[in-house]
Amino acid sequence: TVEIRNLHKSFGKLEVLKGIDFTVESGQVVCVIGPSGSGKSTLLRCVNLLEQPTSGTVVVDGVDLTDPDADIDAARRHIGMVFQQFNLFPHLTVRRNVTIAQERVLKRSKGECDRVARENLEKVGLIDKIDAYPPQLSGGQQQRVAIARALAMNPSLMLFDEPTSALDPELVGDVLSVMRKLAEDGMTMLVVTHEMGFAREVADRVVFMDGGVIVEDGPPEQVIADPQHERTREFLSRVL
Ligand code: ATP
Ligand code: MG
Repeated sequence: TVEIRNLHKSFGKLEVLKGIDFTVESGQVVCVIGPSGSGKSTLLRCVNLLEQPTSGTVVVDGVDLTDPDADIDAARRHIGMVFQQFNLFPHLTVRRNVTIAQERVLKRSKGECDRVARENLEKVGLIDKIDAYPPQLSGGQQQRVAIARALAMNPSLMLFDEPTSALDPELVGDVLSVMRKLAEDGMTMLVVTHEMGFAREVADRVVFMDGGVIVEDGPPEQVIADPQHERTREFLSRVL
């Protein structure tokens, strides 16, 4: 569960998040949509404290990450993040990319790391690439390795920031179907995306952000199919 209350974030004089409130219940998928610069990435980065919020609270699985006494590193271990750019280590094999944090952060044994790597590469359909290097893979395959790497840490929450927008169109589907399967398996997911088909079919809720505020928050059949606000309608008319 993620609970965000009155979240503000400024960079110097620029106020990017102007009081964000929402909750992602355990097992829910929430998609965040909105124009460029509206603060979607900043919001996601505040959820795992890659950015320090200016004010407000972020509570993940009962731990208030904005409490100065909170063990941020421990909390962050349960939050997986997948970026637009996959950020794999190009000089390490797929296997090593998926085992290195398990070994260093979770202190798992080599055998256990390898078992978990195999299990998650199986899940994303890439067990046959376990000994390849990232530059030998397509963008879609690299992104699926990045998902397997995040899953190997046993997250209770997965954050996705436009995971398919750097991909060639024909590679988008494979990544979305891995994400869809993850959702069906009950993963709690917060997904920034421009893939309206995915949002409509997979999301429990869609949040439309504009100018650092949430303009609309509701089930996809409402926010996408029957938006109540002019700003939402105008945005959708450009992306649909
Ligand atoms: P996009 O759809 O293009 O990814 P976004 O909704 O994710 O946009 P953000 O990346 O959250 O938008 O950026 C929101 C605003 O905050 C932008 O004006 C951006 O320039 C600014 N911003 C983001 N990060 C920083 C930073 N580290 N320092 C200064 N300004 C920043
Ligand atoms: Mg962004």
